Amino acid sequence: MEPFRFPGLPTRVVFGHGTLAKVGDEMERLGRKRAVVLATPPQRGQAEALAALLGDRAAGVIADAVMHTPVAVTDGALAQLRALDADCLVAVGGGSTTGLSKALALRTDLDQIVVPTTYAGSEMTPILGETRDGTKTTQKSPKILPEVVVYDVDLTLGLPVALSATSGMNAIAHAVEALYAEDRNPIVSLMAEEAIRALARALPVIVADPQDRAARSDALYGAWLAGACLGTVGMALHHKLCHVLGGTFDLPHAETHTVVLPHAVAYNAPAVPDAMARVARALGASSAAQGLYDLAARLGAPTALEALGMPEAGLERAADAAVASPYPNPRSLARDGIRRLLDDAYHGRRPD
Ligand code: NAD
Repeated sequence: MEPFRFPGLPTRVVFGHGTLAKVGDEMERLGRKRAVVLATPPQRGQAEALAALLGDRAAGVIADAVMHTPVAVTDGALAQLRALDADCLVAVGGGSTTGLSKALALRTDLDQIVVPTTYAGSEMTPILGETRDGTKTTQKSPKILPEVVVYDVDLTLGLPVALSATSGMNAIAHAVEALYAEDRNPIVSLMAEEAIRALARALPVIVADPQDRAARSDALYGAWLAGACLGTVGMALHHKLCHVLGGTFDLPHAETHTVVLPHAVAYNAPAVPDAMARVARALGASSAAQGLYDLAARLGAPTALEALGMPEAGLERAADAAVASPYPNPRSLARDGIRRLLDDAYHGRRPD
């Protein structure tokens, strides 16, 4: 066994069906009396239903969350929050809502209870990405990490099939990069392999029958594990590329992860054969990169950046940005190799 460090997993997790009803108990456990419930505009109804469930313990609803956590939206929500005299935040939604909650917690130090409704995994991480004037910057702080995560499988039954597929692939991406992270450790690697296995098994079932409760449960379990991987060890080339593409060309988050993952894996594969064997084993495939590509295709998810609205002329800029500043990656970052990777992702070619 190689030497390692395992920093631990400080977030309390409640997982099950119907666990939304436990949010009030979790507030009590934290000693909190008045929650502001956060959501995106389309999920306002879910936030209002939760506020009704909380009764006197709800201070109000702020349903302003949008993707990539723009600072202007956070400033507006902060002004509303101050007027509501709340002592904790409850977020119901995907990574965008969790992002708003984290941004508010960073500024107020309020406790957060997050109820995820996608597979993005942000709820398990101390990481916040914020955008200001079109530039996305990421920071890490213990204040950002939610105190409690309540996973309610029932809330994911209505997650649209297309978003289920791409959000699930987004989760798999966290687990894949955890397996070759510079600071990987044996526990996180076990979690990562199990996450890939659970999601790869569940997602095709969900695409065929979005109401399949067992598959939804497996997928959310996999998403939790993958989120815990993302929150515990450092990510590499794949996440860097998606950050650059999402931030520079305003591409949709989960879809971008879905398209790029097989190509980032194909690039890194020669440097990390053991990690690739674990990914392939979890997918039930003979090759990690091809297995990921085939899974996305089988789910009916996008496989080409071109289909996401990426301008072909932007590929050069993306390649420059991906190698502009050094970061840990198992294989050295050669600009021409990254440029070829982006070309394959743009056209949606199946990796060799
Ligand atoms: P999202 O939160 O933007 O959700 C996409 C849309 O689906 C939204 O309109 C949302 O309201 C809706 N939706 C969510 N759950 C639903 C459900 N169950 N039923 C019906 N509609 C539902 O998308 P996402 O992919 O979860 O999150 C993406 C954002 O999260 C990005 O900004 C990304 O940068 C961030 N993120 C951050 C981290 C981190 O650790 N900081 C990790 C992952 C993602």
